Amino acid sequence: MALNVDPIRVADARGRALRDLRISVTDRCNFRCVYCMPKEVFGKDFQFRERSELLSFEEIERLASIAVSLGVSKLRLTGGEPLLRRGIEDLISRLAALRTPEGKPVDLAMTTNGSALAIKAAALKEAGLNRVTVSLDSLDNERFQAINDVKFPVDKVLAAIEAAAQAGLGPVKINTVLKRGVNDDEILDLAEHFRGTGHILRFIEYMDVGASNQWKLDEVVPSAEVIKRISARHRLEPAAPTQLGETAKRWNYADGSGEIGVISSVTGAFCGDCTRARVSAEGRLYTCLFASEGTDLRALLRSDADDRDIALALGGLWNKRDDNYSELRAALEPGDRKRIEMSYIGG
Ligand code: SAM
Ligand code: SF4
Ligand code: SF4
Repeated sequence: MALNVDPIRVADARGRALRDLRISVTDRCNFRCVYCMPKEVFGKDFQFRERSELLSFEEIERLASIAVSLGVSKLRLTGGEPLLRRGIEDLISRLAALRTPEGKPVDLAMTTNGSALAIKAAALKEAGLNRVTVSLDSLDNERFQAINDVKFPVDKVLAAIEAAAQAGLGPVKINTVLKRGVNDDEILDLAEHFRGTGHILRFIEYMDVGASNQWKLDEVVPSAEVIKRISARHRLEPAAPTQLGETAKRWNYADGSGEIGVISSVTGAFCGDCTRARVSAEGRLYTCLFASEGTDLRALLRSDADDRDIALALGGLWNKRDDNYSELRAALEPGDRKRIEMSYIGG
């Protein structure tokens, strides 16, 4: 679709372009990771969104297509657990058919807990998904089950990672959120487990998203410490960023056995390059992971607004964007702002 809206104009108040759109396709999840959807909050009585409240595949496709016309070239499906959304392959094939104003296909990825990935990997690839990121916080079964809090076995996620790579969804990225005293003793084990496999392990600093996880700064394991611990055993060399706005700092093993990454959301804010917008499952747009409020795009999609009206609304929201939460974090007091749960807007 050519809307004639100049992508160069779609820069925010800090001059950042709109390049990535993360789309949450469901707020539900079959895990209850203790730092994301603790059972005390997300228990049996928790009211998830009704099906009719979620954007339909047609609505997601239309919104994504408009975003692509404004300069978005990367789409990531997330959740909740995106593989719980029935018929997700249909959505993937719709999104895979989108073309940028230069006529290129979009980069289409998904972040998943891996629980249903082994059986779905081939169909996802067939539908047009390019890559997957699988979340995995421990290799130790007992610990993994305690973190996901639904006794899901780690072997199944490890098998899913292999199935995804086999299906052509690689290189598979593996995201490990580190929490002091919970899994920081596994840094080297995890690095060595995935070294030489072709999968790319990334350690993520535990963030103060949402209001359910009682985040404390002393639970964050700084990326510098991660690199120091791995370097003590394996020589690492910094790798050049592959693209602007890349969240992970990449390192190569000097012996050629692969790459690892660290995402320093707390100790090394990367707001200056942040080109990401997020859409919740019910169609609210968030211009920052830490935004207090989103903007309802579903109402617009369900009105008689045409694509150009919606493009102008989306471009206008991006133009006004001034977010840089991670750069301000240290100066903020706990409770200074209302926070959206990670399971609601995805990672
Ligand atoms: N359910 C999918 C999964 O777990 O991959 C996708 C959604 S999940 C919210 C996306 C990512 O957010 C996961 O990798 C998860 O570990 C991460 N995450 C959740 N809470 C976090 C926090 N407080 N700090 C850092 N990462 C977090
Ligand atoms: Fe579910 Fe992902 Fe949150 Fe775990 S991190 S509870 S798998 S949404
Ligand atoms: Fe982007 Fe907000 Fe994260 Fe900064 S804090 S990197 S602006 S999402």
